Amino acid sequence: MMKNGKTKTALVAGGAGFLGSHLCETLLKNGYSVICLDNFLTGTAGNIKELYRDPHFSLIEHDVCKPLEPSGKLDFVYNLACAASPPHYQADPVHTMRTCVLGTLNLLEIAERHGARFVQASTSEVYGDPDQHPQREDYAGHVNCTGRRACYDEGKRAAEALCFDFLRAKRVDVRVARIFNTYGPRMHPNDGRIVSNLVVQALSGRPLTIYGSGAQTRSFCYVSDLITGLVRLAEVAENPGAPINVGNPSEFTILELADLVLELVGSESRIQYMPLPEDDPRRRRPDISRAHKLLEWSPTVPLREGLQHTIAYFASLAAERRPRKSL
Ligand code: NAD
Ligand code: UDP
Repeated sequence: MMKNGKTKTALVAGGAGFLGSHLCETLLKNGYSVICLDNFLTGTAGNIKELYRDPHFSLIEHDVCKPLEPSGKLDFVYNLACAASPPHYQADPVHTMRTCVLGTLNLLEIAERHGARFVQASTSEVYGDPDQHPQREDYAGHVNCTGRRACYDEGKRAAEALCFDFLRAKRVDVRVARIFNTYGPRMHPNDGRIVSNLVVQALSGRPLTIYGSGAQTRSFCYVSDLITGLVRLAEVAENPGAPINVGNPSEFTILELADLVLELVGSESRIQYMPLPEDDPRRRRPDISRAHKLLEWSPTVPLREGLQHTIAYFASLAAERRPRKSL
């Protein structure tokens, strides 16, 4: 039950993914009924298996590119449906663009029919390879619309355009979070993103793959901080009327991250340098003054602590997969 005694219902598209499963879990804890909508492209049944115990949780297996009419009354629609790791979203770029554009449109129309509030999981990728640093929400970005990342970057930009058209037309109360690199338990071990790659490699004694020189930077947000920000954006009474950066402003080079992972795992893996992918942003750090002011939010989990939780998670996954010795 919510504080006012009424159960609210949230549809979480992409709810079986890394962030989506944490969001479903938090919303259930906060007294919501949760409908997870996912096509299991990159999400897994394992991510949500514990949630089935809760009678307020249900699953619809569906591709958001196709229209849908969920039954019952929805109060919130969260759109997290989209592969987020470059190797995954580039595997079928046309489907990624469809998911971003048609998926967002279908979900906005559902929110409109239900009079539900809509939260869009946008991304720091809308800033592309930024020539303003740190990135504020009023920076329009530096994106290559013909490169390999464009299906995602430009797809997410088009999705934001749709969101703000629905908001301006007063069709849906839309809120847009620009999420910066987030990490934590339930990232897929083969996800291809930097934190999961380095941790899995260090734990298994394989070389740590560094693309380019490793001097490029990212700012890493632990998943619990991110989910708190996202829910606060959904629940804040006044519509911010503009996108909001949600991320951790502590910035690290990729080599600094690799050193920290090696230290925390106690691994002697070596570094293996590999070519830098096309259009790889050189640096990234959010300016979070807007989130701080409007949501009274800022992250609390330092990288060292968040990495310790993440390493423990991947170590337990590896232990589960190792064949047990017979007694
Ligand atoms: P993820 O790949 O773990 O989760 C995405 C989920 O969406 C998966 O469960 C997948 O199966 C589902 N999905 C993909 N296409 C779909 C479709 N067409 N129909 C239905 N379901 C579909 O990624 P994540 O890290 O959890 O990211 C979630 C959202 O947050 C994404 O929209 C992503 O763009 C955004 N985001 C994430 C990060 C990050 O660092 N994790 C950063 C910026 C933005
Ligand atoms: N990266 C790397 N080794 C890896 C995976 C990624 O050096 O095994 C680099 C990647 O080129 C980028 C940074 O780490 O510069 C973050 O990559 P990720 O895919 O996690 O996120 P994004 O580039 O979308 O921010």
